[in-house]
Amino acid sequence: MLLLSFITGYLYFNRAASAISRLKKAAESIRRTEYITSPPLTRRDELGELAEGIYFMSKEIERSIAAKDEEQRKLQLAVTKLQALEQQQKQYIGNISHEFKTPLTSIKAYVDLLNMYDDDPKLLLEAKTNIAKESDRLYEMVDKVLQLTALEKYDFESQAELFEVAEGLRDICGRMNGKAERFGLTITLEAEPVHIWIDKESFMHIFINLIDNAIKYNVPQGAVHLRSEVRKGRVWITISDTGIGIPAEARDKIFEPFYTVNRDRSRASGGTGLGLSLVRNLVEKQNGSIVLLETEGEGSAFQLSFPVMA
Ligand code: ADP
Repeated sequence: MLLLSFITGYLYFNRAASAISRLKKAAESIRRTEYITSPPLTRRDELGELAEGIYFMSKEIERSIAAKDEEQRKLQLAVTKLQALEQQQKQYIGNISHEFKTPLTSIKAYVDLLNMYDDDPKLLLEAKTNIAKESDRLYEMVDKVLQLTALEKYDFESQAELFEVAEGLRDICGRMNGKAERFGLTITLEAEPVHIWIDKESFMHIFINLIDNAIKYNVPQGAVHLRSEVRKGRVWITISDTGIGIPAEARDKIFEPFYTVNRDRSRASGGTGLGLSLVRNLVEKQNGSIVLLETEGEGSAFQLSFPVMA
């Protein structure tokens, strides 16, 4: 009897000890962040329940650590974005001060010269021309910077209305024809009639800026062509020109404020480097998109799209 109870006790104790050892191993692997994929043992007693408990605990820890890692990744992404934004803003402020100082320095220099030689008719004429040119540039720049700031900082008061695209484009082309003719250029339009829901002023602003660029950066006897078509619930408007084109290395920077491919050419035509940045902001505020298309050979082409009225 004694021997039998000893053997039974020994076997029972041995089984329990091996179960405890498996539970211990499972706990250790969880500690090493090697989570278990099934309960360490299956028994219908308290040890079995403990094994189930360890398994569920392991799954829970794995899930919450994965969630924490995901949160950390998102936070890191947000911090990186914020840092890039801060850097962009610093550069923007730096550019503003530089770009504003240049015309002001020139105006101030002419005023100083006029104070010294106010009876020099040649200087007077030169000063008049340059002060007028620089103050126009300054005015243009202040206007665009204020518009950009308003678009970015405040909830833009957009007065969306039902708008017929073909008619709108015809009107804008008509307005820009005079300038195009002065440059010896022709503007052509091929537009499909379609209604969109948009702020009319923004639409005008966007296309006047783009056509203005297509004229400014064109070549004598060149052309500007606008085409609109409806596809997949959107109106796609392409504006292409036969001008000097945009080099491949400038493609990514073209929409950045104050970016110009050729500062002198841009200055000479009254450019500020803010036009495309403003255009992109306006387009996005109207739920649209704008891309610079890849053009083979001459000229540049921008494609815009807006959702059409259902
Ligand atoms: P800008 O006032 O200098 O014209 P934008 O922001 O409108 O400024 O354009 C940025 C730069 O992109 C311009 O300085 C010019 O170098 C280039 N660019 C814009 N549109 C065209 C175009 N249609 N053809 C060639 N270059 C262009």
